[in-house]
Amino acid sequence: MTPPRAIAIAGAGIGGLTAALALAAKGFRVTVLEKAERLEEVGTGLQLSPNASRILIAYGIAERLGSHAITTRTVTIMTARSGGEVTRLSLAASARADAPYWLAHRADLQAALLTEARSRPEIELRLASPVDDIETTADGVRVGDLEVGTLIGADGAWSAVRNKVFPDVQPQFSGLIAWRGTCDADALPKHIRPSGVQLWMGPRAHLVVYPMSAGQRINMVAIVPGEALAPGWNAPGARDDINLHFDHAHWPADARAMIAAVDNWGRWPLYTMPDGGAWHRGRVALLGDAAHAMVPFAAQGAGMAIEDAAVLAQCLGETKNDGEVTAALARYAVLREPRVTRVQRMARQQGKIYHLQGPMALARDTVMRLLGPRRLQARQDWIYNWRL
Ligand SMILES: Cc1cc2nc3c(=O)[nH]c(=O)nc-3n(C[C@H](O)[C@H](O)[C@H](O)COP(=O)(O)OP(=O)(O)OC[C@H]3O[C@@H](n4cnc5c(N)ncnc54)[C@H](O)[C@@H]3O)c2cc1C
Repeated sequence: MTPPRAIAIAGAGIGGLTAALALAAKGFRVTVLEKAERLEEVGTGLQLSPNASRILIAYGIAERLGSHAITTRTVTIMTARSGGEVTRLSLAASARADAPYWLAHRADLQAALLTEARSRPEIELRLASPVDDIETTADGVRVGDLEVGTLIGADGAWSAVRNKVFPDVQPQFSGLIAWRGTCDADALPKHIRPSGVQLWMGPRAHLVVYPMSAGQRINMVAIVPGEALAPGWNAPGARDDINLHFDHAHWPADARAMIAAVDNWGRWPLYTMPDGGAWHRGRVALLGDAAHAMVPFAAQGAGMAIEDAAVLAQCLGETKNDGEVTAALARYAVLREPRVTRVQRMARQQGKIYHLQGPMALARDTVMRLLGPRRLQARQDWIYNWRL
């Protein structure tokens, strides 16, 4: 007989660990199955807007993150065309002021979630436990030697759980490569050291720079066109290669100086899931990148995974018995799909706008200046002001 309130989660990334905390808070027993033998430094920086930080704070993560997370109050939009500032958005104003806009290293956030999860008796974490053997039974799901009422696939863009339940739904290469790197804050001259998020828009490329790790490190992401060699492939990046995309004819000295300060570039081909995603089948549901990997230009991939976790726990928490699980997962999908699809589309659209060239870039900069920071910022309100 399957224990009624037992749930397995594949993946101890940001989505899987948040889901474990959210489900434990609703009284479920949760087993997190993670394929990695150790959870060590993976990824670089993450922006966590108020829609996500609000949820994390409710699960006690603010204290765990401590000074590792920087609260930023500004996003400065720069143009490579003239080398100047186009506009500066203030994140302190309006309804979203009740929750911070955090800048954090992914590893710090994962460590904070992990510490909190380990303090909860309802959560068991099994490392070196890849999920590949999944079978639906009469009253639950068998995952390896584990029998549970529900399985959540939070195992990222190359999800084994999704492959099992939706073998035809596969990530697609976006044609873009994210170059990710970091440097010591001291490695940047003071006048170009960012205190908040800085976004540089340029011809067929953009650059995002911000401080993290209590301000000691600077995170950089450069997005350029490129080719992916194989699914899931990522590799170190050579400085000469990135310089080709940020040449001095098109990019001002400040942006190039920031790029030159990084000595650990890695290249990440950007794969995305089709809009609409694949969310659930029977007692199996997907969450985070497994359901909706997106281009990172709205800085919302982890944010949406965190929201998914909270909504999923709410839907499952409303069930009175195990017979209601399938309907609860269907409700979760209905609640999440329209919002996430809108974010996926907005992210793609923003990438196109950032990469405009020639007269179109001039028109973009002019329109942004005319709109001004208030109106530009209001376009994000539907994302940041979200509450469960
Ligand atoms: C360049 C770039 C910048 C980004 N910036 C931001 C940002 O600023 N803000 C933001 O919100 N998002 C950002 N994102 C997106 C964000 O990183 C992802 O959306 C988010 O980390 C997805 O979390 P996840 O938990 O769904 O998946 P993942 O983080 O991929 O975690 C999946 C976990 O599952 C494990 N796993 C995989 N297969 C199995 C298996 N078979 N069995 C068990 N475990 C398995 C993996 O080891 C991993 O631990 C960015 C992404 C990129 C590429």
